Amino acid sequence: MRTTRNRDNIFQIIETSSVPLSAYDIEKLSKTSLPTVYRALDYLLRTGQIKSFSLHQCSYYYSSSEHKHFFICSKCNHFFPIYDCFIEEYEKHLQRKMKIQIQEHFILFKGLCPKCLQQQEVDKR
Ligand SMILES: [Zn+2]
Ligand SMILES: [Zn+2]
Repeated sequence: MRTTRNRDNIFQIIETSSVPLSAYDIEKLSKTSLPTVYRALDYLLRTGQIKSFSLHQCSYYYSSSEHKHFFICSKCNHFFPIYDCFIEEYEKHLQRKMKIQIQEHFILFKGLCPKCLQQQEVDKR
């Protein structure tokens, strides 16, 4: 029963986070051990409740209940969720051109966040 409770707790943490979390973030937030976190992540990935991607040799986990893209600031490394998705036409174009069927997409934008952009302007002066 403890396994289920830990798993539910870890799922809730990922579900309520708007940004992707690393296993270490989840370990800290759930106050459980890393092996417990990995066991839960493995189950949640297998059952499709969460999705993951790797960046800079680290895996990040996010909820699959709502479609979203992400932006990561290359300076402060903060993630930002993006809920606008305008790529239906692009997908249709690719499907026609490449004779493929696209089932899903994952988009990660990289650049400078508003705060770092502002800081850059200040530094320039
Ligand atoms: Zn930033
Ligand atoms: Zn999208």
